[in-house]
Amino acid sequence: MKFQLSCILAFTHFLIAFAANPCIDYPDPLNPARFEFTDCPNIIEDDTEDLPNVERGIQNFFHVDINCYSNAILCKKIKKAFDDAGKEISKVLKLKKKIYVNATFESLSFSERNTLGSTYPTRSVFLISDDKITRLYPQALAKQFSLKTHPEYNKYDINSRFNADFSWWFKADNKKIKPYQYDFSVVVLHELIHGLGFISSWDNSLETDVYQYTTGLTPYYYFYGNKFDGFIENIFDRYLKVIENKKKIPSSYYTAQLNKSIPPMTPFYTRLEFTNKVKSSPQWKYAKLVLKAATTNNSIVFTPAKRTSWNQDIYLETSLKYFDAGSSISHVSQLKYRKTSDFIMTWQQFPGQTLEYFIQRGGNYKSPIGPRIISILESIGYATDTHPNPVKPTFHNH
Ligand SMILES: [Zn+2]
Repeated sequence: MKFQLSCILAFTHFLIAFAANPCIDYPDPLNPARFEFTDCPNIIEDDTEDLPNVERGIQNFFHVDINCYSNAILCKKIKKAFDDAGKEISKVLKLKKKIYVNATFESLSFSERNTLGSTYPTRSVFLISDDKITRLYPQALAKQFSLKTHPEYNKYDINSRFNADFSWWFKADNKKIKPYQYDFSVVVLHELIHGLGFISSWDNSLETDVYQYTTGLTPYYYFYGNKFDGFIENIFDRYLKVIENKKKIPSSYYTAQLNKSIPPMTPFYTRLEFTNKVKSSPQWKYAKLVLKAATTNNSIVFTPAKRTSWNQDIYLETSLKYFDAGSSISHVSQLKYRKTSDFIMTWQQFPGQTLEYFIQRGGNYKSPIGPRIISILESIGYATDTHPNPVKPTFHNH
């Protein structure tokens, strides 16, 4: 008996030592501000072999499970639209590992009635970027780096929800689109690209989570067991620059300043106490500056990494007067790019027009995913034919 007991104790200790490896889960794609810290034990891969590169043109690297609350005919069309979108992305990105999507097609609640769809990575993991700063990587992207040791991944990479209350148009119907209909394929492509990591971490949840008005923006904050241990950006944010008095200042600078507001591992009794402490620090002015930029047209740009598909700054969506966590920053500028080949990642979709029409209007680019969008995906770490060796992060074992 004694032997058994000590054995159990030793095993428990082993588990704790390996469990201190946090990652972030987003159970609801419609509400990413409600994220949860989870313990993700290290996984050591004995087989890091990538999927074969052959037949990339026709291979679909996306596996989509659909919970479809509608009639069988419509559900079949939804499935086909997902497959087509997965193939389009697989043509452009040199994916190495399959991406698993958990999609739901259903009526959304009254408060979500204007949402066509919403998507979020199921989990983000902490990896060290090339500039030695730890950032959050969505697991769909993290998987592509084939790291020998990595934090445990979720079964699904991407969570998606689509609104069944809209009148959707499908190409396979061979009918003219009606003025009130939305092309489902446009929305699916757009949403999957968010799931791949086209998402900024800058938002107003520090204040909204404790029912306060928005006066500033911050990246995610590491707040675990009532201890604060720093603000942390998404990999997308590594390339963001805030334009302040005509000067371009990296968003990481603002994050570094905010990280001076509270010493690491400071304990708090409540979230409210934490929020108030950050807001009463002299560094809160940086949060205010980012909010100002996020709500002033042409004030935040994405500067792509070297030698990607686009070598100029890309303007992000900052024209909305009131910051909107799902729309501002995490899209390209609608005013600038709606009529270009990069239309797929503007924040609004307009009814009565098809994907084909948008591609034509944008200048008939070879893919519905335009060069600016591809360069953003290349910058965060996806390989393509013309950019086969993207910047890779490393994983630090805790
Ligand atoms: Zn979007």
